[in-house]
Amino acid sequence: MGLCFNVLGSGSSGNSTLISDGPTNILVDNGFSYKEITRRLGEYGLPPEKISAIVVSHEHGDHCDGVELFVRKQDIPVFMMKSTFDNLNKTLDKSSSKRKCKRAIDPSKHREISPGENFEIGSIGVTCFSLPHNSLPDDPVDTLGFVFEKNGVRVGIATDLGHVSNLVIERLKGCAGIVLESNHDVAMLKASQRSWEIKQRILGKHGHLSNAATAEYLTRDFDGTAAHVVLAHLSTECNLPDLALLTARRALQERPDMRRAQTKIEIAYPDKISKTYQY
Ligand SMILES: [Zn+2]
Ligand SMILES: [Zn+2]
Repeated sequence: MGLCFNVLGSGSSGNSTLISDGPTNILVDNGFSYKEITRRLGEYGLPPEKISAIVVSHEHGDHCDGVELFVRKQDIPVFMMKSTFDNLNKTLDKSSSKRKCKRAIDPSKHREISPGENFEIGSIGVTCFSLPHNSLPDDPVDTLGFVFEKNGVRVGIATDLGHVSNLVIERLKGCAGIVLESNHDVAMLKASQRSWEIKQRILGKHGHLSNAATAEYLTRDFDGTAAHVVLAHLSTECNLPDLALLTARRALQERPDMRRAQTKIEIAYPDKISKTYQY
């Protein structure tokens, strides 16, 4: 078996993606309760005991709320930046915190990683890289994207980013499968009930990728290698799956060099697991 992935769920209500080569099973983030992630893994056909490790992109609750309990119950390591570990544990002191992650992650389970680092989890190679997301003074979050590799087959994940930086473009080159954010439609976001501050933050260089920004990446910077680009982290309020899909597909079709490319654009949903993408 090569490398496969399944987006177990994606959106502001919770994120988790399974990366597997058979013997090694990695969860990227877990924003779901233990019961819910176990249910979703069961739907995929994997008991939670088979998870080898969790890697964490950043400390926002939709990526982290289920990490501590899962790591504790399964007695597995969790790979995250030191700043993510510190910030996660710091929020436990705030009485105003709405996070469901109530306990500090056991430091003995923490494996510290830094942007740009290459490491291995079992039989899968991992590269992590910085994503531009919410690095504001009042929310100093460092965020990671990941590329997983097995026998030269690569799968890239980049969600929660305000723009597609040159680094992201480089890291996603040569991937057989890509999970990429397509968070909102700009007009829908502007017309939404959200406050001006939140709108500005989402639209900013360190917010979330719009359908248009994802389309621009596909038209201008995507290398055409991937068999699948799975659009992820769609806003339920400020996006529509069909709109995200149409915008991205149209962007690819605009490229004469891509007409014969076999890239399929698909969607990851918040409430159900994706199909399994296998390479
Ligand atoms: Zn985030
Ligand atoms: Zn998120």
